[in-house]
Amino acid sequence: MKKKWVYTLDEIDEAKAAVDGDWDRVRGLLGGKGANLGEMQRLGVPVPPGFTITTEACNSYLSEGNEFPSGLWEQTLRALRTMEEKTGKRFGDPSNPLLVSCRSGAKFSMPGMMDTVLDLGLNDEVTEGMIKLTGNEHFAFDSYRRLIQMFGTVVLGVRDEPFENVLAQHRERRGVATDADLTGADYRSVVGEFKEIVRRNARIEFPSSAEEQLRMAVEAVFRSWNGKRARDYRQAAQIAHDLGTGVNVITMVYGNLGDSSATGVAMSRNATTGENVLEGDYLTNAQGEDVVAGTRPTKPLEQLSTEMPEVYAQFEGIARRLEKHYRDMQDMEFTVERGKLWILQTRTGKRTAQAAVRIAVEFADEGLISREEAVLRVSPEQIDFFLHPQFSMEAKAGHAVIGRGLNVSPGAATGVVAFDPDLAQRWAKEDKREVLLVRPETKPDDVHGMLAANGILTSSGGRTSHAALVARQFGKPAVVGASELDIDVRARVMRVGDLEVHEGEWLSIDGTTGEVFVGKLETEVPDMDDEWLARLMSWADEFRRLGVRANADYPEDAVRARKYGAEGIGLCRTEHMFFQPERLPTVQRMITTRSPAERREAVDALLPFQRSDFAGLFRAMDGLPVIIRLIDPPLHEFLPSFEELSRELTDLQIRITGARNLQEVEEITGKLSETQAMLDKVESLHESNPMLGLRGVRLGILIPELTRMQVRAVFEAACEVTREGHKPIPEIMIPLTSHVNELRRQRTVLEAEARDVMKEQGIEVSYQFGTMVEVPRAALTADQIAEYAEFLSFGTNDLTQTTFAMSRDDAESGFLMRYLADGILPANPFATLDEDGVGKLMGIAVTGARKTRPDIETGVCGEHGGDPASIAICDRLGLDYVSCSPYRIPIARLSAAQSALRARS
Ligand code: ADP
Ligand code: MG
Ligand code: MG
Repeated sequence: MKKKWVYTLDEIDEAKAAVDGDWDRVRGLLGGKGANLGEMQRLGVPVPPGFTITTEACNSYLSEGNEFPSGLWEQTLRALRTMEEKTGKRFGDPSNPLLVSCRSGAKFSMPGMMDTVLDLGLNDEVTEGMIKLTGNEHFAFDSYRRLIQMFGTVVLGVRDEPFENVLAQHRERRGVATDADLTGADYRSVVGEFKEIVRRNARIEFPSSAEEQLRMAVEAVFRSWNGKRARDYRQAAQIAHDLGTGVNVITMVYGNLGDSSATGVAMSRNATTGENVLEGDYLTNAQGEDVVAGTRPTKPLEQLSTEMPEVYAQFEGIARRLEKHYRDMQDMEFTVERGKLWILQTRTGKRTAQAAVRIAVEFADEGLISREEAVLRVSPEQIDFFLHPQFSMEAKAGHAVIGRGLNVSPGAATGVVAFDPDLAQRWAKEDKREVLLVRPETKPDDVHGMLAANGILTSSGGRTSHAALVARQFGKPAVVGASELDIDVRARVMRVGDLEVHEGEWLSIDGTTGEVFVGKLETEVPDMDDEWLARLMSWADEFRRLGVRANADYPEDAVRARKYGAEGIGLCRTEHMFFQPERLPTVQRMITTRSPAERREAVDALLPFQRSDFAGLFRAMDGLPVIIRLIDPPLHEFLPSFEELSRELTDLQIRITGARNLQEVEEITGKLSETQAMLDKVESLHESNPMLGLRGVRLGILIPELTRMQVRAVFEAACEVTREGHKPIPEIMIPLTSHVNELRRQRTVLEAEARDVMKEQGIEVSYQFGTMVEVPRAALTADQIAEYAEFLSFGTNDLTQTTFAMSRDDAESGFLMRYLADGILPANPFATLDEDGVGKLMGIAVTGARKTRPDIETGVCGEHGGDPASIAICDRLGLDYVSCSPYRIPIARLSAAQSALRARS
């Protein structure tokens, strides 16, 4: 049997059968646009007759050096004949012409990234025929000039400018503001000039044969799959480059047939907030692209309910129906031809993170989807967006609002103004500057600049404009249609009244409110107070098995973490507390002194600091476990570097030769010997592999005063906080254990100290001792280790380093990148847990430890604890919790729920 390259819209069932009824594969075969047009036709939604050329045909064309595969053209012509029968019109026939559009449409929608040509089938004779038929010269020549311009730019590669210049001249001559106000006679001469532009620039005559036009348009759409902007977009949206595009040939319906005709776009819900209202823009007496292009001010969709109430009601019904059918928010294109409604496209609507959450929750409330599905529909990255910086009230108060536009994509963004996308990209990528892309409007060619910028600001365009769509898709804050701003791209300046903002100056936009500010505003991270998010997260919490804790070193982090839903602290790194400027000298004294008495003194001096740190954590995490890890890094990290000290020494030696009196000499000599002593100490601490050296539990064994002091501080704090009426639950974590004897030795010393404190204070607190598992030996002998550990926490950063024998700091800036590029490693093991290796060790550890101590508590405290894919692995391993930075807590809660739900099915 011959390969089927072409499906008419009413052959949708046949297309489904060809791919075993799998809707995802139907979309792969026909492209999303074609599949949905067929499906709408099947549902009885008014769709103009047409057909789809498959993505397979596109791929074959591109891989065969731009040759149609055999049979394609014959099948295309046959499908065209079917369209003629359906419409009673004929392609290229002046007495009753059929016009068609030739539209791209890939599996995943790439708004405006590829090409479409409208009004194919017009030539001089057919245009005259159209005039006879409709009595509307304006309409016929408006369509004809559109065809020549679109065909010229899309198919023949002529630049847009000469065409636009001609239109501008005619507008000026007539003294009108928009193309719609030109007369039929104007358009007649525009057509002549357009043909001349084609002749001059493309060096061919505009083809008058309808079939020739179609054939060339189909090829151009095929080729647009590999156009630069399409490639850039796919790169950014992570869409595969080998999917190919479908081509849809659709009977033209005319939104430009006078005042009872219109064209528009609409979303079935508000794409910014998710509110359940139809939202859109339209234009009377216009064709397709006009609305999105932002060349004429559009009308809000509500207005259609008064201008054409019946059409509006019908459209509303269709929108609801499509939402129900696809069980998701829809983004639709429609045209009204002399009072008759046609739907030209529907697809899943792009939306902000905020809208995604609200829509998922409300769809569940409306019974369209289950709560489980609602939780699965929001991606962990979208949750991240709720934690994106916002301008604080104080920051806003200090700056004047210079303009307002539509708040189409929320979030705060500041940057220096760049008026063109290339510059925005260069400044952001090469010069590492923060950039805002500021344009009158954006086009598909601008996408690289939009992606590089922190935010996007335009002076024209509506909620469905290109800028709004792309910004929402990529989570970029954007304000569009800020019409008071006069953006003069040529002069590289933006004017508002007397104010001028030049390229390179700081500007701030608030995509949540639509405000524009001059200058650089400070940002702050918001609370998660969205009511729909709260509900979604409460469902997620019901579904998840895995607990979520925070990595937090300071009380304010702990407070934030708890607000975000942390169920305790999984890791408090105590050494951070030593680095604070007022404590560091004491820490250094403790490390460098040879005198036990002086060491004792230094350690004692640190105790109150640590105690108040811990007390703060316990208060914030009242009633929840707090894992405190004892000092971990090699001691030299607390001392100045060897290089720094040597430089200081040389300086002092030079200064001593220039000393003016004995007192100065004595002073410098004193400093010299101090510096020399420090240098000697640093040298004596020098190790060739410090990360494999004297650190972690080894420190506690060699300098027991230090870890004893830490444990004393923990328990004194716990007693103090208990006395205040709180319930602290300290868990003491000993790092880097590799042999059970290390743990046994430390624990014995430390637990004795803990008991002493509790006895002194007369208060009992419940506590646990445990250890980190971050070297393979600990994982392999976890059964032995569990004798002395009531909990295990996988330090997956170190465990990954020690399992791979790969230093993270060096690898990530070196060979690891090459490994990833060459596919030697499937993913960066420091970003996503290596399930086969590191994961296997963790599994061995969990099984071994539970044999000894069935109720042993297990968790992860590496950065993997905040990575959705790694969280799923931890869930499969049966760990009790993951611990991550406060800002990842909500993401971890959702990821844990999604992992549990996916495991069910
Ligand atoms: P894009 O993917 O860039 O939206 P489309 O193929 O959807 O490109 O078409 C561009 C514009 O032309 C849209 O507004 C669409 O509604 C309109 N359009 C496409 N085909 C027709 C048609 N047969 N009749 C009327 N308008 C059409
Ligand atoms: Mg479209
Ligand atoms: Mg470690």
